[in-house]
Amino acid sequence: MKKDIRAVFFDLDDTLCAYWDASRKGLRQAIDEADLPIETGKVLEAWREVFATFSKEIKTDAWYRHYLESGEPTRTEHIRRTLAILGIPSEEVAVKISQEYARLRDKYLVLFPEALPLLRHLKGRYGLGLITNGPADIQRQEINTLGISEYFDHIFIEGEFKIGKPHKDIFDAARNVTGNEPHQMLFVGNAFEHDVQGAKNAGWWAIWVNRGEEVDPGTEPRPDAEIVHLFEVCDWLGIEAPELEFESNTIESRARR
Ligand SMILES: [Mg+2]
Repeated sequence: MKKDIRAVFFDLDDTLCAYWDASRKGLRQAIDEADLPIETGKVLEAWREVFATFSKEIKTDAWYRHYLESGEPTRTEHIRRTLAILGIPSEEVAVKISQEYARLRDKYLVLFPEALPLLRHLKGRYGLGLITNGPADIQRQEINTLGISEYFDHIFIEGEFKIGKPHKDIFDAARNVTGNEPHQMLFVGNAFEHDVQGAKNAGWWAIWVNRGEEVDPGTEPRPDAEIVHLFEVCDWLGIEAPELEFESNTIESRARR
């Protein structure tokens, strides 16, 4: 089938920006700073243990409506449960770590070096959009911190739309505002189920960004391409790639603005 792409939509976390790196670094430092009687490695282990079950519980009625609005309630509850496992059930400490973790995560959040050159390059040639999962306040803060809202014609956030990827409704809503047909839409994202399969099930093309850390569940539907570098989106679109600029949205360049 000949491609007739009119709009390119992106996922945000770990597609355009290094969210997990910022999260890991911020959490470790926030725990270090709390000076707990247990070593940080053990606390992180307990945090991951809680994550295994709590990340699913967040999607249940009791938490989800709070989660859509704000990242704070579930983030603090996650820390609270982590401390409870370790026998340090202190509300004060949980709130302090939660606040510091959020602050540091935002401080350390940066775009991948190729993200901004790609967005600049595609701007004007294609309609551009973002579909990102997560709480409304956190996702807006990330977009603001990264300074990227000007590149997108449309921004869809799970917390605002009240439905997240991979649900077909959010892809349909995003396509509807562009006035395009499904086969004129391309989605680029790192999460196989949420991004790739969500987009494919809505009739879009989908490129899977796998920088080596993603897991292929081996299920259908499959991506139209798998890439390691965002500039490969240009190859797939059949356009030349941009020059890689050396100015990127690093903490240093943000501080200079
Ligand atoms: Mg992602």
